[in-house]
Amino acid sequence: MQRWSNWSGKLTARPAAIHCVKSELDAVAVALETARSGSTVRSVGAAHSHYPLVPTDGTIVDVSGLNGIISIDSGRKRARIRAGTAIHALGLSLLDDGLGLINQGDIDRQTIAGATATGTHGTGADLQNFSAMVTGLSIATANGELVRACDDNNVELWTAARHHLGAFGIVTEVELQLCDAYRLRETGWNATLDETLETLPELVHAHRHLEFFWFPTTDTTVIKATDETNDPAEYPIADEGSRCGWSHEVLSNSRTWLHSEMEYAVPLDAGPDCLAAIRDLLRRDFPEMPFPIEYRTVAADDVWLSVAYERPTVTISLHMDAREDDEPLFRAAESLFTTFEGRPHWGKVHYRTGAEMASLHPRWDDWWDARDTLDPGGVFLNNALRRLRNG
Ligand SMILES: Cc1cc2nc3c(=O)[nH]c(=O)nc-3n(C[C@H](O)[C@H](O)[C@H](O)COP(=O)(O)OP(=O)(O)OC[C@H]3O[C@@H](n4cnc5c(N)ncnc54)[C@H](O)[C@@H]3O)c2cc1C
Repeated sequence: MQRWSNWSGKLTARPAAIHCVKSELDAVAVALETARSGSTVRSVGAAHSHYPLVPTDGTIVDVSGLNGIISIDSGRKRARIRAGTAIHALGLSLLDDGLGLINQGDIDRQTIAGATATGTHGTGADLQNFSAMVTGLSIATANGELVRACDDNNVELWTAARHHLGAFGIVTEVELQLCDAYRLRETGWNATLDETLETLPELVHAHRHLEFFWFPTTDTTVIKATDETNDPAEYPIADEGSRCGWSHEVLSNSRTWLHSEMEYAVPLDAGPDCLAAIRDLLRRDFPEMPFPIEYRTVAADDVWLSVAYERPTVTISLHMDAREDDEPLFRAAESLFTTFEGRPHWGKVHYRTGAEMASLHPRWDDWWDARDTLDPGGVFLNNALRRLRNG
């Protein structure tokens, strides 16, 4: 038995084996062999998820050996990328071909398979999450096949597996829609929380990327607005809030403080009221809570299980030091988020049942049907996913 833990150290597992795949054929073989032995497989990327998607007593498959860009189609602005490639490894290589990621999240340490598994997103009212950028993927399945699904072939599987949760098989490759390379200028400023809430509806539409952090023991927010620019990049790239450079140089940050996180997606128009409700909760019941609340927007998409499925979205995140008990705060916040029809981030802490998730995700049954067709024996499920599936 080996020991596994996630990035924050809050999730641990004692899998029967940890297999570091060395090639696509290796992934196919380990999927088949594990299925034949009656055991289960969960793949892991950079282990940055706070929800127990990876823990299993079967085999954990580490895909970090599958990395690098396979090919770039400059005409269609697409790249085929090996599944274990870290997002930070993409920026320079794509820029060499005059291309960039359409958007990216707060950090760039995740793998491309991990980010697409959970609908990882950045901020921008017109910008969708990573799963919506997936135009194709290859999956090593339980019967020892390498299945390819994309937006013009095997479309049913592609539709479901863009947001795959690691539950269809071992993803060996992801094809992403890209855009022309672009530079960004980021500007930061402080405001009061009341001012911020008042101006938010206007602000989120005025900038390509808009987000803010609110530190709950204060009345102050730190707002970041980021827009395309023709200005040359300014090196060395400055700190967050005042920088100019290529998109991959500006959008990601260093977040080394070990924490856990709950994030809910609520309808765009409900965002300011939802944040005000969270503010009231914190002031009343958690007045000493020092950790930042983050507010971002994501465009609607048509990705099954995406928290932005057919809904322009605001995401609100709460953070807690990894050494502390996050449950009282997160449970209290969750009961508030539910009153705003909130959908929990798939890679972050939540306590929802399968029945509740089904009511939040209109394509829940379709997603499970597609998954079960590819893996009827449940080789690629763990306890957390089985619990959700069983209601
Ligand atoms: C500091 C920090 C910052 C973050 N910032 C953001 C943010 O800005 N926006 C946001 O939306 N989220 C954010 N997250 C959450 C994070 O992006 C997601 O949890 C993401 O899924 C993690 O990717 P990973 O590579 O670490 O994958 P893991 O956490 O290792 O795995 C996630 C899922 O992907 C599956 N998986 C991984 N590789 C494969 C594969 N090859 N085949 C099949 N399945 C696979 C796993 O089985 C699992 O279901 C952040 C998390 C942390 C800790």
